[in-house]
Amino acid sequence: MQSYDVIIIGAGHNGLVCAAYLLKAGYSVLLLEKRSVPGGAATTEEALPKEAPGFKFNLCAIDHEFIHLGPVVEELELTKYGLEYLWCDPVAFCPHPDGKYFLAHRSLKQTCAEIERFSPRDAQKYAEFTDFWQRVLGMMIPIFNAPPKSVIDMAGNYDLAKLKDLFSVLGPPDKTLDFVRTMFNSPRDILEEWFDSEFLKAPLARLASELGAPPSQKTISVGAIMMAMRHNPGMARPRGGTGALVQALLNLVTSKGGKVLTDQPVERILVDNGRAVGVRVANGTEYRANRGVISNIDAKRLFLHLMNDSDVDAADPNLRERLDRRIVNNNESIMKVDLAISEPLRFEHHNHKDEYLIGSVLIADSVNQVEVAHSEPTVGKIPDSDPSLYVVVPTMLDPSMAPDGKHTVWIEFFAPYKIAGADGTGLYGTGWTDELKNKVADRLIDKLAEYAPNVKNAIIARRVESPAELHERTGFLRGNHYHIDMTLDQMVFFRPLPELANYKTPIEGLYLTGAGTHPGGSVSGMPGRNCARVFLHTQQPISQKLKDAGNAMKSTIESVFRLS
Ligand SMILES: Cc1cc2nc3c(=O)[nH]c(=O)nc-3n(C[C@H](O)[C@H](O)[C@H](O)COP(=O)(O)OP(=O)(O)OC[C@H]3O[C@@H](n4cnc5c(N)ncnc54)[C@H](O)[C@@H]3O)c2cc1C
Repeated sequence: MQSYDVIIIGAGHNGLVCAAYLLKAGYSVLLLEKRSVPGGAATTEEALPKEAPGFKFNLCAIDHEFIHLGPVVEELELTKYGLEYLWCDPVAFCPHPDGKYFLAHRSLKQTCAEIERFSPRDAQKYAEFTDFWQRVLGMMIPIFNAPPKSVIDMAGNYDLAKLKDLFSVLGPPDKTLDFVRTMFNSPRDILEEWFDSEFLKAPLARLASELGAPPSQKTISVGAIMMAMRHNPGMARPRGGTGALVQALLNLVTSKGGKVLTDQPVERILVDNGRAVGVRVANGTEYRANRGVISNIDAKRLFLHLMNDSDVDAADPNLRERLDRRIVNNNESIMKVDLAISEPLRFEHHNHKDEYLIGSVLIADSVNQVEVAHSEPTVGKIPDSDPSLYVVVPTMLDPSMAPDGKHTVWIEFFAPYKIAGADGTGLYGTGWTDELKNKVADRLIDKLAEYAPNVKNAIIARRVESPAELHERTGFLRGNHYHIDMTLDQMVFFRPLPELANYKTPIEGLYLTGAGTHPGGSVSGMPGRNCARVFLHTQQPISQKLKDAGNAMKSTIESVFRLS
């Protein structure tokens, strides 16, 4: 039996980041990936080789913001391994039905100037709103970049600037209470409080709802950071597509001696005496892990599908039931449409400029439309009567992703995983059939054509992936692209459950990473890095742990005195 120090289940970007840190620390690592292509929800693939050869599509993630809130790219020196980020500017465009539009640049000042053309009051408010959420973000970055139960690690991440953000947001008791009240609010509550104009509120609601819930949902006002981040640190895409990030990680992992095997679905975690000692893949091959097994897939899939019930029960008799019933998954998934097109989209009713196509194009006519887009999936309805969309033309920023002069379009549409009233039909009994997904895709393109009428004639080929097919390809339970919902009750030390929240599990030597762990889904690499830190800590003698804690506190104190 082949043996390694660590085996990682899944070569998603978080599994690869985790592997990179462990290899750098001197451990031998094997990654086992179920698909023939590593990267999970971060791949770029020539998905229509016959109908549209040479067109490269980001099948899932496209816009990278969160990874720039942490040190992964710099610490792993990913540019040395081939990664180049192209920064978007403008960062977002949202045409409004009445002819107004929201055009957000990376620069806050420029964005306010755009808003001012339609509403001087809202322009002023937008500057204050963004400043507030930027400070909240500054306060949260140290928490994102540390294991949620490692207070010392978190404290060590605060430098003077972050401490200033923290105290400017919190402060005296009433101010702190008011901040807590804001966090209890919904995105809709705060948008109504701050702004008058629908052309501005609707795209902000749409971006806040990327957390996977309607804008009226209480306790997710923090979704407002989704737009704030686009100003600072900004939004970028790897040259060559999201898959180029994965390729850089693969280059690093293999150069350090790591091994990545594809087409190797892990079927069983091998447990001996309460300790994870290896895995068995679908073809029966077993691999031994001398120091640990790390799962890039979420706790539900890991404990309920890949382990013997008796092994789990012996470690924690309540765990299986808690995973099964306590973790929330609200039925919202994504239907994805990729188009190969012969010319760029043209927003004819909005004084078209090609710069509109650099960032993300949001089709969000009103906050109510966004509300429907995110609430109907929960009850199994497809919100396609007046669809809200997230559209990108990646080839405007990076022409290398299509043949000369040609383009691609990336469309994200929130849709139910299980369709109400269609139980037992379609793929996995979800109600999704080829006919239905194509009918829905036609409606999405009709909606886009209201703004960019040239889209229909420009289509060379298209690929449509229903939520059920997304589940089939990626393994996401109920097609949940964040592995589990990103609501407040499942964040930080609640993610995925308090007893599993620090990347460790009740099975000795078995660890969790990936979108289902803190700080959650999206392309960030943070779960991978944080998990590697926890693993490395468990391998260290106590003297080293105390030394590291001392160094973390020292660097915070030094930064405060150096800069004050
Ligand atoms: C359509 C779509 C659009 C998105 N857009 C964005 C975006 O623009 N920006 C952004 O930041 N995020 C976006 N996301 C979210 C983001 O892509 C994911 O949250 C993130 O990539 C998850 O990474 P991960 O490494 O944690 O998990 P995953 O990518 O899910 O990796 C897990 C890996 O494990 C493998 N695996 C599963 N089961 C097994 C098994 N039994 N044995 C072996 N391997 C297994 C999977 O194949 C996969 O490679 C999007 C997601 C989707 C679906």
